[in-house]
Amino acid sequence: MTEKTLSKAEHKKLTKELTKTRKHVWTLLDEKEKQNVLTYAQAYKDFITAAKTERESVMFLEAKAKDMGFVHLVAASKDDRLLMKNIRGKSLALIVLGKAPLTNGVRIVASHIDAPRIDLKQNPVYEDLSMVFLKTHYYGGIKKFHWVARPLSLHGVVFKQDGTQVQITIGEKADDPVVTINDLLPHLASKVQGDKKISEAVPAEKLNVLVGGYPLAAPEEAKDVVKLGILKLLHDTYGIIEEDLVSAEIEIVPAGEARDVGFDRAFVGGYGQDDRSCTYASFAALSELINTNKQPEQTSIALFMDKEEIGSDGNTGAKSRLLELILYDLSRHTQEKIEPDTALRIMAASRAISADVTAGIDPDYQDVHEKRNDALIGHGICLTKYTGSRGKSSANDAHAEYLGWIRGVWNEAKVIWQAGELGKVDEGGGGTVAKYLAWYGMDVVDAGTPLLSMHAPFEIAHKADLYMTYKAYLAFYEAK
Ligand code: MN
Ligand code: MN
Repeated sequence: MTEKTLSKAEHKKLTKELTKTRKHVWTLLDEKEKQNVLTYAQAYKDFITAAKTERESVMFLEAKAKDMGFVHLVAASKDDRLLMKNIRGKSLALIVLGKAPLTNGVRIVASHIDAPRIDLKQNPVYEDLSMVFLKTHYYGGIKKFHWVARPLSLHGVVFKQDGTQVQITIGEKADDPVVTINDLLPHLASKVQGDKKISEAVPAEKLNVLVGGYPLAAPEEAKDVVKLGILKLLHDTYGIIEEDLVSAEIEIVPAGEARDVGFDRAFVGGYGQDDRSCTYASFAALSELINTNKQPEQTSIALFMDKEEIGSDGNTGAKSRLLELILYDLSRHTQEKIEPDTALRIMAASRAISADVTAGIDPDYQDVHEKRNDALIGHGICLTKYTGSRGKSSANDAHAEYLGWIRGVWNEAKVIWQAGELGKVDEGGGGTVAKYLAWYGMDVVDAGTPLLSMHAPFEIAHKADLYMTYKAYLAFYEAK
């Protein structure tokens, strides 16, 4: 049998019809949408500059939600349709009630608002060689060498024993001092650092934060007078004593604002884009639903979770049962009949996106990526069927039926998306909150912004990808 050679036109047509290609988002947008991308990126930068901790994220989002008319579930009256629940100031749920009863299922976009950082220990303050430092314990997966010899800021809360809360932010305003972690000069580093594995070159117990250097005028035999000076300063400014730091959560994060990156300003650089890129996208999607007065068919929930970076344990993390509590509160609010299995029934009928970032292929480290199946920067939100490591271990591995539905929704809404996973098989891996949502029986899949330098103090995202993440979540909420 002989086969007819395709003409150029036939080849082009067949290729277009049958093959799947990834195109750069920027080449597919008209001028108006390009402008939308830039406007979105500006508002996003303001968010990640203002919200560097989980508590600050909750405060920021809760205040914006309040302005839009969201009311706390506990204080809501019968007709309120914009609802929120604040979980200990560290997680937040924003809810837009849909037309359908809750038992038809809800739509959830779940992101996390904690980010890798350096926390203070409970007894942090010490003096050595006439300088005062704070002892730390890092939080989440950091490369410790990223955190030395750079300006850092300090964000957090101190609770006094009478319950009074003291908020502390040092290092963000232009005239604020910053703090820093010293590094060894290269002249003396060849043995203690140079000969070591990079992961061991900066030991965790040397991540000590420099905070003071003036000795207090005191009798000659007095010891630790620089430390006493710092404690006095803290007391004069915040009314706290050393023991108050036992009941404090103080986070050391990179100082400064999120910035445009590149001569053409194509990227946003900043701290905590894992996962606040997805947080902001789901928040912006809910806002758009409200601004356009579109009451969704199904109740739309944006969940902003704490503790993802340390495994989602704890009563503000995705492994806690707070989602059940939210659904019972909602059922009471909508006056739907509550049976013993109500929350479980709602969840089993629900659809969710585990909104978390993925690794974009770094041109300098292409060898850890699999080019055909890892996310390309600038090519849209990345849909990730499974995460995990060593043969999908601990992965949610979303069902094909669900992926079929979601790509239909996105294609219909002209969302530019790609499908991929995080790195080569057996190269490493990671997890998200997807499996904890799946535990409830709902359909859930990972989808989020591709990043470069993930978990570094200065993470990079393409503006077009940030915008497509928002469009994808909006389409998900709006879909029938
Ligand atoms: Mn993440
Ligand atoms: Mn992470």
